[in-house]
Amino acid sequence: MNFFDTHAHFSRLGGEYSLESQISRAEEMGVTRIVAVGGSCELNKAAVDAATAYPGMIRVALGFDRDEAEALGKPSDLCDALDRLRLAVSQLPKRGVQVAAIGEIGLDYFYSAETAEQQVALFRAQLELANELRLPVVIHSRDADVDTLEALKDHAQTWSGDPERIGVLHCFTRDAAFAADLVDLGYHISFSGIVTFLNADPLREVARTIPADRLLIETDSPYLAPAPMRGKRNEPGFVSHVATRLAAVRDTDVAELTEQTFENASRLFGW
Ligand SMILES: [Zn+2]
Repeated sequence: MNFFDTHAHFSRLGGEYSLESQISRAEEMGVTRIVAVGGSCELNKAAVDAATAYPGMIRVALGFDRDEAEALGKPSDLCDALDRLRLAVSQLPKRGVQVAAIGEIGLDYFYSAETAEQQVALFRAQLELANELRLPVVIHSRDADVDTLEALKDHAQTWSGDPERIGVLHCFTRDAAFAADLVDLGYHISFSGIVTFLNADPLREVARTIPADRLLIETDSPYLAPAPMRGKRNEPGFVSHVATRLAAVRDTDVAELTEQTFENASRLFGW
């Protein structure tokens, strides 16, 4: 089985958590493709470093997440940030690094409701950039369903790229109605280790409702290690546990789910 971890964050830790150690364990588990996801200067750089070291296995998503909204609140700073992304997307392939998406971007009113206005501005500016660059988006949304949906509706209406490559709502934790709205707009839905958690029955019910061709799996490592690895630092090799649980929830076998999610992710990211 070939697993595709569609969402992992890397850092510069050494030893047992070094990039090399994590990747060698991931390879042992059958993970062959990973999207290394940015979201800040530091995360973007770590993602690029990972893809530079493992270009056949790792591609990057670059962007500025909700935590950068305040710092990029001035129009001139936002403009600079978008220019840096444009430059990275045009230059990185010459260094052998493939840019799979813009991300992660989006809204989080659970942790930082006070910057909602700046978050929406940053989110929408990057959706426009994704449209300009014809790149899919990797979206984060927490306690912000209404504003997220509104922005993603507008994005779907103006999207000039391949309709099957518009984007993914990552680490999905919301209800079935929200998922259905996103699927109707053309987005994919990605499940993380949360789907294995003891108290996640409602989310497992949602996972049953997603059309097979829109489903993705991810670790969101180093956070949210899936059962039975809870308490450990999460890493891409653990994506198999997400696949196993999702397959059980959807009454399908794990090989089939793994193949389907691999195909879906490859199509979405143009890989
Ligand atoms: Zn993430």
